[in-house]
Amino acid sequence: MVKSKRRIFGEYVGRVAPTPTGLMHLGHACTFLEAQRRARAAGGKLLLRIEDLDQARCKPEFVEALAEDLAWAGLSWEPEVLRQSERLAWFREVLGRLREAGVVYPCSCSRKDVAEAIRAPHVEGQEPLYPGTCREREFVFGSEAEALAINWRFRVPDGEAIAFEDGRLGAQHFVAGRDFGDFLVWRKDGFPSYELAVVADDVAQGITEVVRGEDLLASTARQLLLYRALGEEPPAFYHCPLILDTEGKRLAKRAGAMGLRELRAGGARPEELEEIAKRGGRLRGGA
Ligand code: GLU
Repeated sequence: MVKSKRRIFGEYVGRVAPTPTGLMHLGHACTFLEAQRRARAAGGKLLLRIEDLDQARCKPEFVEALAEDLAWAGLSWEPEVLRQSERLAWFREVLGRLREAGVVYPCSCSRKDVAEAIRAPHVEGQEPLYPGTCREREFVFGSEAEALAINWRFRVPDGEAIAFEDGRLGAQHFVAGRDFGDFLVWRKDGFPSYELAVVADDVAQGITEVVRGEDLLASTARQLLLYRALGEEPPAFYHCPLILDTEGKRLAKRAGAMGLRELRAGGARPEELEEIAKRGGRLRGGA
């Protein structure tokens, strides 16, 4: 079981980390409000980090909109806001540390190669496991720029159980090589993967508890492997329930009626948001 650094005497540092590829919806608001409640209850701080690494899909207008929508929803954060798109040097350094530790390897497989190499049917809803094609291959790079222009994967310890205690859900357990395979830490476009960037910045910002949606539970197991490889102590984790719409479907970025803007236009008040979420997004009870 991985012990986390819920520092007994240190300050609680929480964060909200939206990705500005669309407008914020009720699901984001509920998770972020929970993060705020937990930070306040612990007498700590809440940081805002904009995860804008996906250059094609992240738009400046969504960044502006998210700050406004989150403030309307009742969220407040420390003045210094981190933007991941400005932190590539730090992510390269973290990749360098992983390379030095010998836990990552370059991978020249395209998505198509990976799909073709996977014969066994995979569990629905789970990403197929990388078959390990490049695990033992030798790559020689002429320069550092060349080394950063290829995908890099983390070699997971096959068969090892990764267990952790979730603040809401209790004991969690994932098996490396069964529940997830060798995952990407770096992309050939020169950007880190979500897993690397989030760990690098949670470390850099001294985050003591990560509060986020429970769709990321398996990612937490991957991230714990990164913390270990980097020799960093992991934060505590608290995964929130996902908000479902009235048809029981998960909210997407295009949440329509569940968007904070739509709810606001429909007369919702910020303090009602969590009640509205419990009603599956219906603005008024009973109606
Ligand atoms: N940017 C991520 C998302 O929007 C946040 C994940 C996290 O909190 O670690 O899903």
